[in-house]
Amino acid sequence: MIIRGKIVGTADPATVTVEGKQIASVETGAAKGGELGGDDVWISPGIFDVQVNGAGGVSYNSAELTVDEVLKSCEWPYKAGTPLLCPTITTSPVDQALAALTALSQACEESATVRASFVGFHVEGPYIASEDGPRGAHPLEHTRDPDWEEFCRYQDAAGGRIKIFTLAPEREGALAFIEKATASGVIISLGHTGATRQRVREAVEAGAKMSTHLGNGAHATLPRHDNYIWEQLAADELWAGLIPDGHHLPGPVLKSFCRGKQKERVCLVSDVASIAGLPAGVYDRVYGEDRVEIHENGKISLAGTPYLAGASLFLDKGIPNTVAFTDASLEDAVEMASINPAKLLGVDDRLGIVEPGKEASLTLFRWEEGQDVLDIVATIVAGEVVHQG
Ligand SMILES: [Zn+2]
Repeated sequence: MIIRGKIVGTADPATVTVEGKQIASVETGAAKGGELGGDDVWISPGIFDVQVNGAGGVSYNSAELTVDEVLKSCEWPYKAGTPLLCPTITTSPVDQALAALTALSQACEESATVRASFVGFHVEGPYIASEDGPRGAHPLEHTRDPDWEEFCRYQDAAGGRIKIFTLAPEREGALAFIEKATASGVIISLGHTGATRQRVREAVEAGAKMSTHLGNGAHATLPRHDNYIWEQLAADELWAGLIPDGHHLPGPVLKSFCRGKQKERVCLVSDVASIAGLPAGVYDRVYGEDRVEIHENGKISLAGTPYLAGASLFLDKGIPNTVAFTDASLEDAVEMASINPAKLLGVDDRLGIVEPGKEASLTLFRWEEGQDVLDIVATIVAGEVVHQG
């Protein structure tokens, strides 16, 4: 397969040749032919979103999740130009989590495409804060203290694919858990936490490496200086997942966070809920018994309240938002959504760069300054075109 376009970060025409699952060559200069792309098409390393809760009505957090549903759910991220993701499950009873992780793992076994797309699983909770505010929309009755044996059952059900685990470090036993999980190769991310600054620091020293959707899953009101958001923002050891949908973080906060993390340690995440991709309207039982509403502008709220209840915008919107709200260039924003997550997960030897020898997981799009959404031309997973716009 031959792709013609411009590599993000350069303005030169380029021809990318894909053989099998890999990029065979990248030639710059006058581009020739090409089955895919065009002179005005950007060729980007595959957008990699480390927090996706489901899509198109399929929740990865369901006890009834089937392999077919998992396969079907990929259509939405692919349409949005996201070939690479971490399917994410949230706080639930143990049997539900085990069933969901088993289905996600079986989907990886059965489909080479899904296996290439699901770079690792992200488990967010249940060892998070029980307190209103930091807990967000996670069900209170299933929040609990870290339990290493229970986590090992999760990891077995997932076939060893859990790569990111979000917890609140103030829970009893969390620091020992962080040390063990880190030693086992799992990235511990701090989130849905009300920890003291001191506890955040101890978690970092125990091995925590990331903040989950920094600035969200937090108290509505905090002491202005002495709080866990500043502590995490200032901790150079921590990468930050940021939701650039325009609803979760106001533009100036996104800009300040990107600067605080100096872009190299930001991973843009969509955190899309299972109803992402569905039309605006009110939906039942997305989180337990709660009814949620998708608004025309993509905001999801608990129906009848102003409270956010998840996100619905993929990074085809989040990347232009990041360019609009911060001083990031297109190249910077794409890096925050491709090579950065690949580095965080330790897979940058094969993903995140358009170079010969790397896996051909790519996003092709048209975009001009000021455009508010990427116009996706094609999404490619390990050499396979999974979506064409
Ligand atoms: Zn969350």
